[in-house]
Amino acid sequence: MHDVDEKVVASEIKKSNNILLVGHILPDGDAVSSLVSMSLGLEKLGKRTLAIIDDEIGEYLLEFPLVKEKIKRLDSEIEQMMFNEFDLMLILDASSPDRIGRIEKYLSYFHVIVIDHHITNTYYGNINWVDPSMGATAQMIYKLLSFLNVDYDEQLATMNLLGIATDTGFFKYENTGAETFRVAASLTEKGANISYISNRIHGNTPVEHIYLYRDVISKLKLASKGMIAYSLITLGMLSKYNILPKDSPSLVENLRSIKGVEVAMVFQEYEKNLYHVSLRSKEWADVSKIALEFGGGGHPRAAGFSIRTDNIDFEIQKIVEYITNFLEN
Ligand code: AMP
Ligand code: MN
Ligand code: MN
Repeated sequence: MHDVDEKVVASEIKKSNNILLVGHILPDGDAVSSLVSMSLGLEKLGKRTLAIIDDEIGEYLLEFPLVKEKIKRLDSEIEQMMFNEFDLMLILDASSPDRIGRIEKYLSYFHVIVIDHHITNTYYGNINWVDPSMGATAQMIYKLLSFLNVDYDEQLATMNLLGIATDTGFFKYENTGAETFRVAASLTEKGANISYISNRIHGNTPVEHIYLYRDVISKLKLASKGMIAYSLITLGMLSKYNILPKDSPSLVENLRSIKGVEVAMVFQEYEKNLYHVSLRSKEWADVSKIALEFGGGGHPRAAGFSIRTDNIDFEIQKIVEYITNFLEN
């Protein structure tokens, strides 16, 4: 089902008492914020919830105690519980089924509602509430929980604001609209603390990440008359500083900040020969189109995809050529 809104989702939620909440692999602030907020909100309505992700969560997000407490990693025990005790599955912030990892193979066993803000969403649920005008899935969660008359406390308000803050680059990216500020203002009135969030996200950088940044900058390359900036993080570079791939800093935004750069790109190896490619643009290039071309997805100014290769330099060259053509034609 297409073109639904929070009212349709709310009426489905009212019919179920045991609700699974699923987030995407390589989880980010929006995914964990949406999961924890839904979990807290639905529990206030007397529902039982189980929030799961088929991946590890980065250290910087585990700084929020509720993330560790509420989100479980998929394992055989959780799998059993999923099947025996839950009927409705809400999938948050995941644009296509491959984004939920191994949970993809269980989709047909559940009534599935997708809540997402990616323009590249493939509408793979039984019901799909997709709104690309929203700065974050967490912004949609606020709409939904408010419609359900959930009584926000400080904890819920802060956890809900986390995803809105991180997905909008703390209210500066193009996806920051008037509605984003209205929701943030309302969450702040309910007790959300933006500087608590910012200190955890920005004030907690391990010094090893700065050393890694130095190495990433030493590999920085520019192309297409300085419009493209790109660099690489390999497993070897991470192990030099004992950084786990899941904890690797993104750094792509630092490359975008360079004068004249329109598209920034970081190739990050997270398993041997398996790379995640992060794309960002500054003002006009639609990087979601580039990511789609390579089997990924995302938003106009932030997108990504994965590649498997034993010759990353060759792949980088091919991708840079593709983007050069994309920008110059
Ligand atoms: P990242 O560069 O990982 O921060 O991702 C930027 C944006 O692109 C986020 O909104 C992601 O949800 C989306 N994205 C990243 N990787 C993928 C992928 N493999 N498939 C679809 N969307 C992706
Ligand atoms: Mn996300
Ligand atoms: Mn998001």
